[in-house]
Amino acid sequence: MPHSLLALVLTSTLGAAPSPDLTVRYEPAGSPRAEQAMTVLKESEALKTGIKLPKPVEVVARDCDEPSATWDGEERRITICYSLVGEIRRTLTGISQTEEADARTTDHRVDAALTVLFHHQLGHALGAMNGLPDSEGQADQFAALTLASDAPKRVAHAAEARHLLAGHTDLDHLSGQDESATFACLLYGADPAKHARIAQGGWVPAERAPLCAGEYNRVKSAIGAWRPSRLTQ
Ligand SMILES: [Zn+2]
Repeated sequence: MPHSLLALVLTSTLGAAPSPDLTVRYEPAGSPRAEQAMTVLKESEALKTGIKLPKPVEVVARDCDEPSATWDGEERRITICYSLVGEIRRTLTGISQTEEADARTTDHRVDAALTVLFHHQLGHALGAMNGLPDSEGQADQFAALTLASDAPKRVAHAAEARHLLAGHTDLDHLSGQDESATFACLLYGADPAKHARIAQGGWVPAERAPLCAGEYNRVKSAIGAWRPSRLTQ
């Protein structure tokens, strides 16, 4: 019964304590580089969420052989590798330096990108826990819905960061121009007036922007019941 579960999932309470259904564990970092990535991930607060989950989920940040992020359905565990966090940070810092963006902008982009990374993995988890077949597109759809309700102040930076990372094919789950445009469209469509920067920034193509509220509403009704009154506090 995906819909009844999703109704629970999407009743996020803004500003709430971290979801008791979600536990976060940081494993020791084995190098100065991993240590730095751990600090960046902690300070980003990307793993804090008020989204209610149908079942408990563990998030583990750790050293890995490959820079990746994964969802393990049997263990109900999201793994985020320090090396992937480091790559995201280095890539966005490099872009920001090229653009001569200030340090604050860079930090916002990094924090937002890590938030996208987490919500995308949460999207894989929510799809699986609701008995839906897994796909990258669906994980992004969940991610857009949960991020828009969970971290509304990060929405524009999330679309921007994903746009900036889209051309970097080695970034697990975050690469791809089409995927980035669809993700931006859903975030923008959640509230086009509030998130106007997404259209102004060109992170969603201009000709697509007017269609995004419709896209968002279709996704919203396709993957779950929604209680907007809980999301506009
Ligand atoms: Zn994915």
